Amino acid sequence: MNSTDQQICMSAWDGPGAGPGAVAPPVYQTSLFAKPSFEEFVRQQAAEHENFVYSRGTNPTVAFLEERLALLEGGEAAKCFASGMGAIGAVLAGLLRGGDHVLFVNTVYGPTIELAQHLERFGVEHTVLADPTTGIEEHIRHNTALIYVESPGTMLMKVVDVPALTAVARRHGIRTVMDNTWSTPLFQKPLAAGVDLVVHSLTKYIGGHSDVIGGAVIGSRDTIRELFYQGHQLFGAVMSAMEASLVLRGLRTLPVRMEQHQRNALTVIDHLRAHPEVTAVHHPYADHGPDEVVITSQFSGFSGLLSFELREGTFARVSRFIDALRLFRIGPSWGGYESLVTSPMRSTDDPARGLGGLIRLSVGLEGAQSQIEDLDRAFASLAR
Ligand SMILES: *Cc1c(COP(=O)(O)O)cnc(C)c1O
Repeated sequence: MNSTDQQICMSAWDGPGAGPGAVAPPVYQTSLFAKPSFEEFVRQQAAEHENFVYSRGTNPTVAFLEERLALLEGGEAAKCFASGMGAIGAVLAGLLRGGDHVLFVNTVYGPTIELAQHLERFGVEHTVLADPTTGIEEHIRHNTALIYVESPGTMLMKVVDVPALTAVARRHGIRTVMDNTWSTPLFQKPLAAGVDLVVHSLTKYIGGHSDVIGGAVIGSRDTIRELFYQGHQLFGAVMSAMEASLVLRGLRTLPVRMEQHQRNALTVIDHLRAHPEVTAVHHPYADHGPDEVVITSQFSGFSGLLSFELREGTFARVSRFIDALRLFRIGPSWGGYESLVTSPMRSTDDPARGLGGLIRLSVGLEGAQSQIEDLDRAFASLAR
């Protein structure tokens, strides 16, 4: 994490009405912006992506957040959406045409793959390459228009060699998109590694307080403008000013929160790795294997989302473990201040799907000591 990023997260409002010196960004709770003359209205509406005309398009509070996100990712421009899926939907629907093929690399977020399945009815094909360490080039087809990657994935936390992937994509003239939600822009910079577009679910660490749903896309000015007029304006998954102000509040503490998530997670991982009930821990820090070079060069820090495998990981044992936890609450999502637990297991036959005993933890901001005590209580419950 560098100090420039820390300053960007905490930057003071410099938009309209900055005069009185409000340190928190004003919430522009308005659906439209009236203009002094019809001529001026016509002029501004012709370039709606850079003027405040109607809040389905642009809004000063949302624009302030977009500028911060573009700066943090090192992109020219950003567009915010009502959710991460809103952003991902705009990217896939906006960049793909019938007859195109998308290659998904790694165990990508489930609903993203469901969206790709939905796009089949519009003639868009896709392949999922779940193991990112196998050759990517063999899976490229003559009609591959996009390579979509997550690194790490958010269930098994497998890491992709992103610079190697973007080099292959460039050789074939294929655009790349990366979901950087796990790392946040503070711990990984995909655009610097050659990725064309970054997507985020702002619902996770960036919002950070489990009180807002949001998404963003960051990339070149031209691509963001294209996404603005199609995927954003026409599909209408718009972030409101109120939501943007909540995300901006989260952004101000993102650097301190990420340091603490990391510290707690590494302590929890060390504890899990030494525990006899645990057969594997999945997190870039825990994987001191062939990925090591990739890991040290791609990440400047690690977030607090990890998973581990319980010995004899039947559905009954996983349920008993999860139910014995008190501090880690049971729920979807992750990246908030609070510790959460879930498992992809859905029934007793899950070991056949290779998910046997997998438990995912979002290590929150409580003290690592209380997190470890809670986990130990759950391990102890297995013996009874
Ligand atoms: C949650 C999540 C999304 C979707 O974001 P929403 O804000 O829930 O729509 C996308 N990618 C990843 C990796 C996520 O965890």
